[in-house]
Amino acid sequence: MVLLRANTGCFTEGVLEMKKVSFFGKDIPVIYEMDCVVVGGGTGGVAAALSALENNIKTVIVEKTISLGGTQTNSLVSPMMPTNVPRQYINRLITERLQQERIKTDDGTTSCNWFNVEALSYVMEQLIVERGGEILYDANYIDCLKENNKITHIIVNTCEGLGAIHGRTFIDATADALLSRTAGVKTNSGNNEGHNQQVTFRFEMGGIDIATLRKYLLSKNDTYCKIKDSDFFEIAMVQGKGHTLEPLFQKAFNNGDLQQEDLRYFQGFTQPGKPNVMSFNCPHIPNILQTTNPIARSKAVVKGREMIRRLVNFLVNYVPGFQHAFLLREASQLGIRESWRIVGQYVLTEEDYIKRARFTDGIARGDWYIDIHSVKNEEIPKVQFSPGEYYEIPYRSLITFEVDNLIVAGRHISSTFLMQASLRIQPTIRDIGQAAGLACALSVKENIPLNQLDGVALRRQLQLMEEL
Ligand SMILES: Cc1cc2nc3c(=O)[nH]c(=O)nc-3n(C[C@H](O)[C@H](O)[C@H](O)COP(=O)(O)OP(=O)(O)OC[C@H]3O[C@@H](n4cnc5c(N)ncnc54)[C@H](O)[C@@H]3O)c2cc1C
Repeated sequence: MVLLRANTGCFTEGVLEMKKVSFFGKDIPVIYEMDCVVVGGGTGGVAAALSALENNIKTVIVEKTISLGGTQTNSLVSPMMPTNVPRQYINRLITERLQQERIKTDDGTTSCNWFNVEALSYVMEQLIVERGGEILYDANYIDCLKENNKITHIIVNTCEGLGAIHGRTFIDATADALLSRTAGVKTNSGNNEGHNQQVTFRFEMGGIDIATLRKYLLSKNDTYCKIKDSDFFEIAMVQGKGHTLEPLFQKAFNNGDLQQEDLRYFQGFTQPGKPNVMSFNCPHIPNILQTTNPIARSKAVVKGREMIRRLVNFLVNYVPGFQHAFLLREASQLGIRESWRIVGQYVLTEEDYIKRARFTDGIARGDWYIDIHSVKNEEIPKVQFSPGEYYEIPYRSLITFEVDNLIVAGRHISSTFLMQASLRIQPTIRDIGQAAGLACALSVKENIPLNQLDGVALRRQLQLMEEL
């Protein structure tokens, strides 16, 4: 890593030389010069950075918040969905480290991969730092500089103002395809009408007497929670689906304590390592049709806070086990399931899902169903995978025609709206990240642009190749 110092006193760690780039007529100090620049330290970005570091290239993560994990941590999204696809190297690395932190990651029943958000962001940070990786927190990516078809620098906004980062390879792990869009890559968004998947504003409650809650539900012959390990518990209520909690929701609605919009989707999980705490996968925010609109996102936050207050009061006043419970935290980031998707060298489609597609450059695998939380009823292929069945994700869905040294790692790879709803789950995104990080290492070492790299050779090098 080369850390440069500007004579203004900016970025003052280390004194080598001052480099600057011009950005809209302003001289901007160059903060880092790296082999691999990962924009976005979320689910895909962290996996990609770890993979790049494991392959010995100088890597920095640029993250706009001050914790790694993205949707997993800042949107409070847990657990990792169950998958029968064998867990790949980076996935295993993170899971084993969580276990060393005495976080129980396996419930013994569902093949979900569990964590709590504080433990996960800490573990990710430690894994990056131990491998010599740099993390630039509180740094908002805003634009990039290009020469011909290559990105030369990204521009970030920090506490000291604008800074530039030079890289040989760049990973767009922003989930919103922000680096790709600003670099001139074509993108799509939403379904045929341009509507995105539903937005959720998650929250956690503490002080829950989970034993009492469990006892109450079992006394009503509730069968929703299939997990046998008593350290784990989950609850749900979707109006009209016959859930045990529905009469309580209905009573609160009749009393004016809940509104119709609160009854649409309710789900909560315990958190390993956090006794008496549950994390809630709700509320779904009504009437937000486009997650690509910053004003709509802001309105979703305001609306979500109101809905969270109603749900918390309802739980405390109506549901056994919650009498002494309290709102522990709200997510610091909205739960966005889908926004922009790049149009890359291959667009993965629901046809590929249906036929369990295989590709010579397949670099990750997915087996989750097409999981749409949509504002309208979509026509979803009714195809259930048996355990062991999967589709592959080709390397070409991560790279673009427009930019030579750019690769995408996250929910925004090149796919259709329906297909994205399957590949967006965390274990798959981590595997995509692993492939992206290795691709950067090969690109740097062999001096081949990312979008001309041999995906078949990359597949061969990936550990998952052992099982493919
Ligand atoms: C409500 C909800 C429930 C879900 N439930 C589950 C579930 O139970 N299990 C499961 O496996 N999956 C679930 N998913 C899906 C899964 O969590 C996400 O699809 C996945 O985590 C996305 O990973 P990502 O790397 O694409 O994005 P993220 O993890 O969100 O990472 C993007 C990162 O980029 C950073 N960033 C963005 N813009 C900038 C910028 N300008 N500058 C710097 N940094 C930036 C963000 O801060 C963030 O850290 C759920 C998703 C949602 C929204």
